[in-house]
Formats: sequence, structure tokens, C-alpha cells
Amino acid sequence: MIRVWQGDITTLDVCAIVNAANRSLLGGGGVDGAIHRAAGPGLLEECRGLGGCETGRAKITGGHGLPAHHVIHAVGPVWHGGGQGEAELLAGCYRSAMDLAEAAGCRTVAFPAISTGVYGYPATAAAAVAVATLRDWLAGREGYEVTLVAFDGATAAILEKALEA
Ligand code: ADP
Repeated sequence: MIRVWQGDITTLDVCAIVNAANRSLLGGGGVDGAIHRAAGPGLLEECRGLGGCETGRAKITGGHGLPAHHVIHAVGPVWHGGGQGEAELLAGCYRSAMDLAEAAGCRTVAFPAISTGVYGYPATAAAAVAVATLRDWLAGREGYEVTLVAFDGATAAILEKALEA
């Protein structure tokens, strides 16, 4: 099951929240900064031991001070116009994150709109990739609740529309 929820992802009491991280995994702005602030310094300490992460992939840590038990740090692509494999890399984030969630025994997972902030991926195109990739991953599996988190109303409307398609 996929649903859309508008608000701050750091407040969600789910098994895993996904972070829109950068390749260093050492924190940044946007949702990454919000997650590190809410989780406390233990998260950065754990991330230092991960050695970064490739674009289109993800790594998992504990949730530290967050209500969520785990943080899955996914590195989305920077938008360069769409001809640099951005869609496949973005899909890779969603797939890798769900693989890690499954391995950790998580059935409730929340995603921010990866790459649609500073990384510049157009929100409508990113929402289509997110929904298609998650539907594909969820096909044949049961009991998962995936929340697509929109920080603002415009993103919420775009995600709702992608879900209706
Ligand atoms: P990226 O670098 O992958 O583009 P950003 O953090 O800049 O990542 O933005 C990704 C999305 O996360 C944007 O839609 C942004 O509005 C949203 N966002 C920012 N803060 C939060 C938050 N606390 N909870 C949920 N979403 C957030």
C-alpha cells in the first residue's frame, strides 16, 4: 500500500525513514539537515563509518533520536536534463531503499521526494518514477505500508496525482 502524507518526515513513527542524502553521507541541507538535527550527533557518527554511498544506491543506519528505528540514506541523482540516466538512478534509490528495509524487517517505510529539492529533479517526473518503482517492488509482496512524504502542498498534489495514474 502506498499513501501520501504531508508534513515533516522526521516526526514519523515508522520502522524506517529514507533520507535524501549526498554521496558523502555526512549531512547536508534540506531533508538531510532536518534528519540529522532531529536524530542527534549519533547519526553522523554512525554515518562516518559507512564510507559514503554511490548515486542511485542506499545505506542503512539506526534512527538514534528519531521516532523511526532506522534511517535509509539514499543518494539521488542531480538533474542534468534527463539524458544522464537520472530516471534509472532515481529508481535505484527507491529499489535499494526497499531492499534494505526488507532486510531490516521493516514493513513501514517513509520516503521524501528524493532529488526534487537542491538536486533539481522535476517533481512530476520524480513522482512518476517513485510510484512506478515502488509499485513494481511491492508487486507480489504483502504487508508493506509505504508513505510518500510531501513537505509542501504542491508536492502533495503532485504525488496524489501520480498515485491516481
Ligand atoms: P535533494 O538534494 O535530493 O534534492 P532536498 O532535501 O533538497 O534533497 O529535497 C528533497 C525534498 O525533501 C524536497 O521536496 C523538500 O521540500 C523535502 N523536504 C525538506 N525537508 C523535509 C522534511 N523535514 N520532511 C520531508 N520532506 C522534506
